[in-house]
Amino acid sequence: MIFKNFENVPNNNNQIVIFGSGPAGISLALELEKKKIKSLIIEAGKKSYSDASQENYKYKIIGDDLSDLKYSRLRQFGGTSDLWGGWCRPIEDWNLEKWDLNSNEIDRYSNQACEILDIKLDFKKAKLNEYFNQIQFQYSPVKFAQKYENHISNSKLINLCLNSQVTNFTGENGNFKQARIISNQKEFLVNSKFFILACGGIENSRILLWTIKQSKGLIDQDLPIGKYWMSHPWFLGGIGFLKKEKLKNLLGTNFITYDGPIHLASSKKLVKEKDILSGAIYLNADEDTKIYKEIVKDFLCVSPKYGKKIAKMLLNKDLKCGNIFMNLEEEPNPKNRISLDTSEKDMNGMPITNLYYKKSTKTLITAKRILEEMGNLFVNENLGRVAIRDEIENLDNYENLGTYHHMGGTRIGKNKKDSVVNSNLKLHESKNLFITGSSVFTTGGYANPTYTIVKLSIRLADELEKQLKKIS
Ligand SMILES: Cc1cc2nc3c(=O)[nH]c(=O)nc-3n(C[C@H](O)[C@H](O)[C@H](O)COP(=O)(O)OP(=O)(O)OC[C@H]3O[C@@H](n4cnc5c(N)ncnc54)[C@H](O)[C@@H]3O)c2cc1C
Repeated sequence: MIFKNFENVPNNNNQIVIFGSGPAGISLALELEKKKIKSLIIEAGKKSYSDASQENYKYKIIGDDLSDLKYSRLRQFGGTSDLWGGWCRPIEDWNLEKWDLNSNEIDRYSNQACEILDIKLDFKKAKLNEYFNQIQFQYSPVKFAQKYENHISNSKLINLCLNSQVTNFTGENGNFKQARIISNQKEFLVNSKFFILACGGIENSRILLWTIKQSKGLIDQDLPIGKYWMSHPWFLGGIGFLKKEKLKNLLGTNFITYDGPIHLASSKKLVKEKDILSGAIYLNADEDTKIYKEIVKDFLCVSPKYGKKIAKMLLNKDLKCGNIFMNLEEEPNPKNRISLDTSEKDMNGMPITNLYYKKSTKTLITAKRILEEMGNLFVNENLGRVAIRDEIENLDNYENLGTYHHMGGTRIGKNKKDSVVNSNLKLHESKNLFITGSSVFTTGGYANPTYTIVKLSIRLADELEKQLKKIS
């Protein structure tokens, strides 16, 4: 059932309370439901977007500017899935090396995740050379509120309470007793055997940091909560063109055919050999027809013969030609972190977020090396040409065009010095607090995060089932 506020929720004896109704929270509740386990989802936002609710996501950035963080997440039923692009791809197994989690432990939940996201389990990878693969994405049309509203309204095992913000927890020595929530301007204490934070890649850290301030002795203060925050800088690396027929010939039957951009990704070998991070390239075809003309004009000046050839290929629609966008990995850095503001609070009395962020030279070097190697590949195989932007030489000019993926802050690991949850997503030293979402990502890879988030939530349902059996 769906309740407008906590006053209407019939009882306060819960086994499992999940905070947040985005992809992470809803996927977990759906999987628990399949196991006949009841859960209550507590959601801060309303059924749909509201400026007043969004205002509680206010933040300050200290350091380098990020594109508008305010609109890179949504505080409403369904969370940011009301806004997301839907691009899905698994994180590479080799990106998981520092996660204390084997890729099989996540991959066995792929079928269920695809069902939730209405996508096919088809993520091909075709080897172009030792440094690059053509990669396949799936596109999910799912907005979680839209897809699951009726289901949750009719469910006997999932209750959803809207307009209720968790601010902090009470308890001692790792035993989380109650969650303090503000619902309809009133304060309530929510009881549960297990609490799960699924409030997104910034709020998960913010809530834990506020809990440390409010309930001394509940959480180990030395845990690096909020630290190692990462995004996927979305970056315009240059322009270029690619002859589709040549690419098809090179890849033979492995060529991945689908509409839209051509996606290429760095291989493990490229990352290791050049000591860089991961990156994916999006060669967009229909981006900006002006660019076609500019490229042809430039080539006609330098090499008239080649220019004419390109113009002909454009007419024959054999070219992918345009902006080269890149989704880049960021190095986990403890200095990039979420902390609490000391002077400003949100409507419900919680300090707003301060995000300390510095762009990194390594990300820029990664972009440059990847484009250089891609340029070499294109020339050697006569696949096309790449023109790298001049700005790539200068960190000050490097502009991050989107900060849509928020990762880290409560990362997975064994060591309490550089991680916050264990591989079962339980807060270190806690008895009953779990965290799901991209805040647990130890490293970011290049792949968009939500498919992995959904798989982690489904896996968490297995762990919670085991935990419930232990105490019953
Ligand atoms: C423009 C844009 C495009 C994107 N495109 C893609 C894409 O193509 N592919 C991809 O994989 N990802 C994409 N993303 C990222 C994707 O939206 C997120 O990875 C995903 O939504 C994260 O799910 P989540 O449930 O962890 O967090 P969210 O979706 O942010 O949900 C968190 C929920 O918690 C609630 N909440 C917050 N604080 C509290 C509190 N204190 N108490 C109770 N509830 C609270 C929020 O209201 C919200 O409902 C995109 C994001 C943006 C902004």
